[in-house]
Amino acid sequence: MNKTPLAMLIGTLCISPITSAATLIHAGTLITAEDKKVLSNHTVVIEQDKITVIEAGFRNPTTADQVIDLRQHTVMPGLMDMHTHFYSQFSPTVYSEGFTMNEADYALRGATFAEKTLMAGFTTVRELGDNHHISSALKKAIAKGYIKGPRIFAAGKSIATTGGHADPTNGVAYALMGDPGPKEGVVNGADEARKAVRQRYKEGSDLIKITATGGVLSVVKSGSNPQFTDEELAAIVSTANDYGMKVAVHAHGKEGMERAIKAGVHSIEHGTYMDKNTMAMMRKQGTYFVPTISAGKWAAEKAAIAGFFPELVRPKAATIGAKIQQTFAEAYKAGVKIAFGTDAGVYEHGENWREFIYMTEAGMPMLEAIHSATIEGARLLGVADELGSIKAGKIADIIAVPGDPLQDIQQMGKVSFVMKAGQIYRQ
Ligand SMILES: [Zn+2]
Repeated sequence: MNKTPLAMLIGTLCISPITSAATLIHAGTLITAEDKKVLSNHTVVIEQDKITVIEAGFRNPTTADQVIDLRQHTVMPGLMDMHTHFYSQFSPTVYSEGFTMNEADYALRGATFAEKTLMAGFTTVRELGDNHHISSALKKAIAKGYIKGPRIFAAGKSIATTGGHADPTNGVAYALMGDPGPKEGVVNGADEARKAVRQRYKEGSDLIKITATGGVLSVVKSGSNPQFTDEELAAIVSTANDYGMKVAVHAHGKEGMERAIKAGVHSIEHGTYMDKNTMAMMRKQGTYFVPTISAGKWAAEKAAIAGFFPELVRPKAATIGAKIQQTFAEAYKAGVKIAFGTDAGVYEHGENWREFIYMTEAGMPMLEAIHSATIEGARLLGVADELGSIKAGKIADIIAVPGDPLQDIQQMGKVSFVMKAGQIYRQ
């Protein structure tokens, strides 16, 4: 395009040495998650919503710049939890909530869970299953700045089969069971499976969540049996691919898990009874494992309390819950790709960081656990060119904890600085 002399002059003025105001983070320790290095005494420069420069030493500010003094802190990318549920938080009364709470009640409560999660340093989450489209509504409200919370990638209603984990009418009186279909996330056969995926797309979901095996907290007998046929799984994966959506799979049992991996799904959640063969399949296909050890530990602990769970749930919680950490240890050793995820909403929202304790207990070095909660999460989401590490050009999602979390994991529970897309939420 031809420019007038005036336009050229204005163009020149705009790139004059008077730089726009920047935020300078003076980081005593810096984990970029770009490589295995840990840097000390660096400056991270943020302009608007982007990281523009990372340099050694503490840059002196211009009069327009804002300095954030984190010289006694460890600065790292915003954390990512690949498995949360802002729709709920488990308690013994959760099974009857549906009879007393309305959609707006769920949404408003979910907003408080989202804020807690952001303040705990989690700037991005995958919401893996809700009702009433709560996570899509939260996603929009957060993006518009109406409420505070992490960036959400939402699955919407999980897709199950009749009586399967996430059939919304399991365990209720026959008169109330009805016969939920694809719209409610219950499918039987390939056509209904395709319809359910398209329905989620229409509702604004970013990805698909399915429940490939039984689950712990649903009021039915099996916690691990396969619940989809190969045909249904193939229909789900190919339809999701058509719409650019990834597929996250709840799975405890080996058979259902392996069917899903073979069908080409992108992540296995929980993964409790995977074995060497399953791990080899995941390595070959590049399937991510999202462990959720926190939820397993919580379920096993609560199973010891009489009356906390319905009788059908209690034995599942005791056996399956207790096993996940051991599975994680084996999968890590076997070289399966791991993305941090906790199943927040089973246990208390905002306590996501405890997963770091369980991961390191099971043999993963802390720096690697931080990578699993940053760059690996971004890779699983398919957004690693924009998020997941501290690198010039990426979106400025940055947090800090006091001291050195590589020596003392408890520091991860004391997040004192949270920036999302260049905006400070906690300081
Ligand atoms: Zn879950």
